[in-house]
Amino acid sequence: MLFIEDSYLKDFDATILNIDSNKIILDRTAFYAKSGGQPGDIGKITLNGKEMNIIDTVYDNKQNIIHVCENSNDLKIDEKIKGKINWEIRYKHMRMHTALHLLCSLIPYDVTGGQISYEKSRLDFNADDKIEKEEIENKINQLVKDDHEISYQWITLEELDNQPDLVRTMSVKPPRTNNKIRLVKIGSIDLQPCGGTHVKRTKEIGNIRIGKIENKGKMNRRVNLSISD
Ligand SMILES: [Zn+2]
Repeated sequence: MLFIEDSYLKDFDATILNIDSNKIILDRTAFYAKSGGQPGDIGKITLNGKEMNIIDTVYDNKQNIIHVCENSNDLKIDEKIKGKINWEIRYKHMRMHTALHLLCSLIPYDVTGGQISYEKSRLDFNADDKIEKEEIENKINQLVKDDHEISYQWITLEELDNQPDLVRTMSVKPPRTNNKIRLVKIGSIDLQPCGGTHVKRTKEIGNIRIGKIENKGKMNRRVNLSISD
């Protein structure tokens, strides 16, 4: 999971560990696998100068990262490949994902769901109050302009159990690596467990537009957002 250490890594070398029809497992990868509302990466792998498209990246039920290859006929186990993620799409996902952290920091309710995509993203809050669209839009863009730094800390499961307030998302269990949980810290405004990919500074997000705030029933307010380049 090279994206955990370096979310800006676009190219990497790897060895094929397993092939099951068009599903490829590598010994290391920069491809982010679909999870936590963030889509799996697409991109290419190259073997002996021949490029093959990766059309999705997902986890299997053993938490292996599966690269779904458009045409895997030329691939064999133990072969060395070069991987390249589609950076344009991934970087947009990173900006969107970081924007959702900022949104979460501004709205004091638990998160019950969320979805990130290239065009727009959303978070669902366990709230019955009205959420003021213009107020949130002004505040979130101020956080972007303040250019907060995004950094990481690792804690043990016991340490997390002692700080249950950290977990804002009721529907997603925090990801764990070697029995440790990664915390994502945005300046002094947000700290929560997350295994997704983020930008390094909030200014990279760009201008955020808050879209419709939908009433999805009792105790559910859906906040949509998009970002302009
Ligand atoms: Zn995150």
